[in-house]
Amino acid sequence: LSRRQRQMCIRDRYKKGGVEIDEYISRCMSNLSLDLETRKIDFLYRNDVEKGTCLYIDEEKIKRVFYNVIGNAYKYIDKDLGMIFLHIEDAGKMVWVRITDNGSGIEKDELPLIFERFYRTDSSRNSKTGGTGLGLAIAKKIIEDHGGQIYAESEKGKGTKISFSLPKKVDEKKKI
Ligand code: ATP
Ligand code: MG
Repeated sequence: LSRRQRQMCIRDRYKKGGVEIDEYISRCMSNLSLDLETRKIDFLYRNDVEKGTCLYIDEEKIKRVFYNVIGNAYKYIDKDLGMIFLHIEDAGKMVWVRITDNGSGIEKDELPLIFERFYRTDSSRNSKTGGTGLGLAIAKKIIEDHGGQIYAESEKGKGTKISFSLPKKVDEKKKI
């Protein structure tokens, strides 16, 4: 396929539209929060983006990103008192979504590899947590197809922070 044809395919695959951030997050979290509550994982949410700001995204696809990233935070928490913090930050045309957990953390040398297809760290391969190692590769693909970026920071034993950026919907009134 030519570059142009490839871009057409990507455009067809995503049904992008505008959605208000807070409303969207609470919709994404409505199923997840039950799981977290049952496992006694504290969930904290903080939105530092101006009220009423809208995202321009494929809601279903980005929901999958939330599920994959928060699903990992949930799966790799090894403390009695689990904690997941979801933080939304303003970055001009984009917003940053940051998801921090107090789980097992990831070794420094393995950190660059976790977004690769089928990659699972030594410790997760040796643990009872199942998985195919595709969750973050899928998340990365979806984020990049939205023009965003995704990366991880982590400290072994302490926890992990996954950050990804999402495009804002351009306000037509402000465009003049
Ligand atoms: P799948 O998501 O396909 O069920 P998976 O969770 O193993 O499988 P990814 O979500 O792609 O795969 O994550 C890749 C690897 O990165 C995981 O196997 C795990 O070793 C590590 N990892 C990802 N997120 C975290 C986290 N929050 N804490 C600790 N390790 C993590
Ligand atoms: Mg996963």
